[in-house]
Amino acid sequence: MFLSIKEMEVRKVRFDETFPPGEIDFSGAEVRQASPLHAEGVAELLANTEGEVRIKGRLRVNLESECDRCLARAEFPLDSSFDLFYRPTESLSAAEELAIDEGEAEIGFYQGAGMELEEILREQILLLLPMQRVCSSDCKGICPVCGKDRNETVCHCRIEPVNDRWSALRKISQG
Ligand SMILES: [Zn+2]
Ligand SMILES: [Zn+2]
Repeated sequence: MFLSIKEMEVRKVRFDETFPPGEIDFSGAEVRQASPLHAEGVAELLANTEGEVRIKGRLRVNLESECDRCLARAEFPLDSSFDLFYRPTESLSAAEELAIDEGEAEIGFYQGAGMELEEILREQILLLLPMQRVCSSDCKGICPVCGKDRNETVCHCRIEPVNDRWSALRKISQG
């Protein structure tokens, strides 16, 4: 759905949209959409600004990925409200553009006639996902020695401390 600035000049633009899996591209993010994505809210052009847009709403979706530790399915039900501000890139001076490159931007930017709701939602969803994607916080993961899933089987492998490799290397270089 395209959120048009022209339309916002006349009225607030309300949205209440459902995107089935596949409509928004999550490839490259190593995550799959496991339920329809529902988003509702309103986009408005803020008065007395140079084209600043506020997008407020709520999104609900279930995502899944491989567990970082055991490779089983990890699920992430998201239900979150958002309140975002966007400014037209045309309003920026060169100096301001530099500042944005340095990553202090709490504010987003749009170019031209408006923005795609799908892109905004995709960005929000990726921000909402936890850094560590695990099936459960106490997932024991896969044993690096025997390869067994330690959630299912207790193995008695001795896991060498990582440092040993380096001390072995040091011995070689000293000898
Ligand atoms: Zn796991
Ligand atoms: Zn083991």
